[in-house]
Amino acid sequence: MSWQDDYGRTMLPVFGTPKAKLVAAHGCTVTDDAGRDYLDLLGGIAVNTLGHGHRAIAEAVIGQLSTVDHVSNFFTTDPQLNLASRLLEVVGAPTGSQVFFANSGTEANEAAIKLARRVDAPDAGSPGRSRIIAVDGAFHGRTIGALSLTAKDAYRAPFAPLMPEVTHVPFGDVDALRSAVDDTVAAVIIEPIQGERGVRLHPPGYLRAVREATRAAGALMILDEVQTGIGRTGHWFAFQHPEIGEDIMPDAITVAKGLAGGIPIGALITIGENVSALLSAGQHGTTFGGNPVSAAAALAVLDTIETDGLLAHVRATGDQLGEQLSAVPGVTAVRGAGLLRSFAITDPQQTDAGELPVASALAAAAQQAGFIINPVTPDRIRLAPPLIITPAQLQDFIDALPALIADTVKAPS
Ligand SMILES: *Cc1c(COP(=O)(O)O)cnc(C)c1O
Repeated sequence: MSWQDDYGRTMLPVFGTPKAKLVAAHGCTVTDDAGRDYLDLLGGIAVNTLGHGHRAIAEAVIGQLSTVDHVSNFFTTDPQLNLASRLLEVVGAPTGSQVFFANSGTEANEAAIKLARRVDAPDAGSPGRSRIIAVDGAFHGRTIGALSLTAKDAYRAPFAPLMPEVTHVPFGDVDALRSAVDDTVAAVIIEPIQGERGVRLHPPGYLRAVREATRAAGALMILDEVQTGIGRTGHWFAFQHPEIGEDIMPDAITVAKGLAGGIPIGALITIGENVSALLSAGQHGTTFGGNPVSAAAALAVLDTIETDGLLAHVRATGDQLGEQLSAVPGVTAVRGAGLLRSFAITDPQQTDAGELPVASALAAAAQQAGFIINPVTPDRIRLAPPLIITPAQLQDFIDALPALIADTVKAPS
């Protein structure tokens, strides 16, 4: 039986048919069951911060498994404590800031929703504000709470009714935002860059407007840095990127994807003692969140980013990648920061219904040629390679791209 048949028989069909079965992964290369190598320009969707099979992560995980593996949240461990301190340090968070560990980005956002629900609560046993504002195009996860914040109708409609009292404001519209945020609003949740919506940046001034409006209304500003955090933009967090964050400090930050470089983890970071005090003992919990193995892996990632100078590396290689992409014929509208980039391909010939959208066709051609890239929207490719990727590796893709685009766009239907 082929693995495709096996997959179709045993796996719920939510992901469609996988594009390959991978049997090995080292550095920025993954290998399929036929022995073909691919340059991984997606990094497990912004997860494999240090590439695949990095020794620092492997040693941290194995070392931790043979020291203290899993305890429960009735106990604490050094990796958990050290990671919380280290995260608060890289955030530059003021005293009183605290951390809750979860296992994924979705779960970090679920914790953030519960945090928001405590705003203005009269006492520990009664609810607070319940309205949450999110932005059109947003992606915050797929569980019912997080899905309620996600904007995409195709994800939402089959599961109605979702969590009530969530409003999506039009993208980039400061006036609409200002009129939506009044003193009944618990929080505004926003991605500094909308990753799933095609690596889309808010217009200048927008994040600052969110900061001002939430502060005036006594609402929380929650930054979803699940995709953009942990060095992805060449700064620890995207809000610290001078052109993105505009000197703001949010009230809460969620992180996950790249934090432990491929080991599941998520975190909610609460900024300042007033926000941290919103949740009290017994009001939230998790079995696996904060486990020492994931925490040890995350510490290895943070240490390696620092000791290997990866933030500067990401800024330099990311800027170069952006420039190189912009110069490729057929590529338009390059967007992003650091090593989170996207580009559009215009394809006047592909108008027939039923044909693959041009981005999917390009991704398929790229895979044939040995590159993993992501068709994030019908006409747009996302790149989120490991932060350790070299200029030479990126150059290989840039060299191959013109022919891939020419073939894809001209392919007869
Ligand atoms: C991926 C993602 C999530 C969901 O994270 P999971 O780990 O898949 O649950 C939430 N927010 C953003 C911005 C993401 O990119």
